[in-house]
Amino acid sequence: MFDVVVVGAGPAGSMAAKTAAERGLNVLLVEKRQEIGTPVRCAEGISKDSLSRFVEIDKKWIAAEVVGAKIYAPDMTEVVMAEEMAGNEVGFVLERKIFDRHLARIAAKAGAEVYVKTTALGFERTDNGLRVKLRRLGENWEVETKLLIGADGVESRIGREAGIIKTLRPSEIESCAQYLMSGIDIDENYTYFYLGNELAPGGYAWIFPKGEKSANVGIGVLPSMAKMPAKYYLDRFIEKVGIKGKIVEFVAGAVPVYGEISTAVADNIMLCGDAAYHSDPITGGGIANALSAGYHAGLVAAEAIMAKDYSASFLKRYDGLWKSDFGERLRRNKKLQEFFLKLDDSTLNSLARSIAVKKIEEMSVQAIVAELLKTNPNLIELLREFFT
Ligand SMILES: Cc1cc2nc3c(=O)[nH]c(=O)nc-3n(C[C@H](O)[C@H](O)[C@H](O)COP(=O)(O)OP(=O)(O)OC[C@H]3O[C@@H](n4cnc5c(N)ncnc54)[C@H](O)[C@@H]3O)c2cc1C
Repeated sequence: MFDVVVVGAGPAGSMAAKTAAERGLNVLLVEKRQEIGTPVRCAEGISKDSLSRFVEIDKKWIAAEVVGAKIYAPDMTEVVMAEEMAGNEVGFVLERKIFDRHLARIAAKAGAEVYVKTTALGFERTDNGLRVKLRRLGENWEVETKLLIGADGVESRIGREAGIIKTLRPSEIESCAQYLMSGIDIDENYTYFYLGNELAPGGYAWIFPKGEKSANVGIGVLPSMAKMPAKYYLDRFIEKVGIKGKIVEFVAGAVPVYGEISTAVADNIMLCGDAAYHSDPITGGGIANALSAGYHAGLVAAEAIMAKDYSASFLKRYDGLWKSDFGERLRRNKKLQEFFLKLDDSTLNSLARSIAVKKIEEMSVQAIVAELLKTNPNLIELLREFFT
């Protein structure tokens, strides 16, 4: 009998397990993969601030530090966002193979049991809580728990079985393909983003440096807008931009771009990270929100155990915490994503040209939108219509 079973040892699950275990709870963290952190389905970019809120930064899992981002319109007009003036590095490209393992290790150090090669198959309700069905190293297993935290990623089995989320529609998920490439010749102080309906329908392509001339080169497309699989667009992008280098790894994956769900809880259950569609609808970035949601879920688990109340109405305080942290950003960026999806390539070109000469000294979607509004006041009316 556990106080909490956490399914999935990604950033959300490990952070939830660590936070709950630190508060004295009896925690089991299960991960279906044999090795935590591999394969890496991520471009691994995160801002320094959002990372240092939750973990002490350790150079062991930082592959590269960047000072800014370069964004390219379909006609290759360049917009530079750089915070060199504001301080040192502003963003990191992680080595998630090491980072995810580090998080699971600190969860274990805090007292959580960590079982790899253990898949959660489902759960059933009992008089005292839940019975979770597991398959561990080829054998079926059952454990009892008061609380279950679903941190099992974008296709969360726990979330669907609990009736909290439904299968995403093709317009609510980015389909991604990514190569790790070596021998790439870029300025490693920047991350690179490439926009365009033809280049990446409903998404964008990226190059994130990983040091020593290697980089994650990837693309995300919306299946509702793309006619071909993501890998097709990735290969075309590499050819178009003329990226030279050797492919040493390939991964395909998906990111929810849903926006904010109304609740991430049911009786005895909380969802966090991609399982609760917590990733950003514009950038697809989800590591920071996964860490934050995992932390809040761990806190509320401890409060629930203390109060002996595992009802959805008690667990709703978890909704309150993640929503006040990043719920508004999810709502706003979903609207902005829908707005930007309506712009054709020539409009994207002229918007980029209008701000190409400006120096944007903050690396955020908000900073870009603020600069666009300053330079193109006619956008205010369009956005207002969109937001009301
Ligand atoms: C190509 C790509 C590029 C991306 N780039 C970035 C980026 O640059 N920056 C950024 O912030 N975000 C990025 N993201 C998103 C980011 O990877 C996710 O938002 C983040 O990993 C979410 O963390 P999580 O803990 O919620 O889920 P995950 O990291 O997906 O972890 C879920 C874990 O649950 C395990 N699991 C699933 N089902 C079960 C089960 N039944 N039993 C046991 N274990 C189970 C999985 O094996 C996995 O380890 C990218 C995503 C993709 C696909």
